[in-house]
Amino acid sequence: MNLLEKALEYIFLPSCGVCNKLGEGYLCKKCGKELAKYAIYLEKPGENITYKNKEVEKLHIFEYKELVRKLIIGYKFNNKSYLYKTFCEFIVKNKKAFDFVQSYDIIIPVPMHNKKKAKRGYNQSEIIAKELARLAEIKMEKHVLLKTKDNKMQSTLNKEERKNNVKNVYKLINKEKIDNKKILIFDDIYTTGATIEACIEEISKANIKQIGIITLAKD
Ligand SMILES: [Zn+2]
Repeated sequence: MNLLEKALEYIFLPSCGVCNKLGEGYLCKKCGKELAKYAIYLEKPGENITYKNKEVEKLHIFEYKELVRKLIIGYKFNNKSYLYKTFCEFIVKNKKAFDFVQSYDIIIPVPMHNKKKAKRGYNQSEIIAKELARLAEIKMEKHVLLKTKDNKMQSTLNKEERKNNVKNVYKLINKEKIDNKKILIFDDIYTTGATIEACIEEISKANIKQIGIITLAKD
């Protein structure tokens, strides 16, 4: 490490995304323990989604409530984009979750429509997927699944409306990029599963080896 790198490390010393404590990475021990109370990980096999006779592996990191809910809302809507480091650190430190990520070849974030992305400045799922891919040494691919319609936000709709709202909204492109690969789809919050199922339907048009889902939280 040269002097400049040392100086930069000092200036940008990581702090805990939850309590701001310095010196323990992006998630301190205390907050890590607190977050672990909400961890759910792999669903029981019977609860996996079956799609066209193929079982889809499903992993939710947290239950969407209390502290987790507060952090995710801050992350998505209140400019706390730095929290992606904290979420990823939690995943890396939890063997079961990290092994799950590493068992895939490519991670694909649920895409955002260009208009919405321009307004918010970032796609929160893409940032986490990118960091997870880097840490797990797998690939992140954002030019495979497109969102072609700027539809209503799922959170404003009921279960039936959600299904219709995501119909024909996602489109598979460059499908040769995922040929014969194990694909993991990332989304932030899982509620009815309508968004993820619409993505699975598109991804499944390619000749893939396996498909899985990882979400930050299950509502
Ligand atoms: Zn902390």
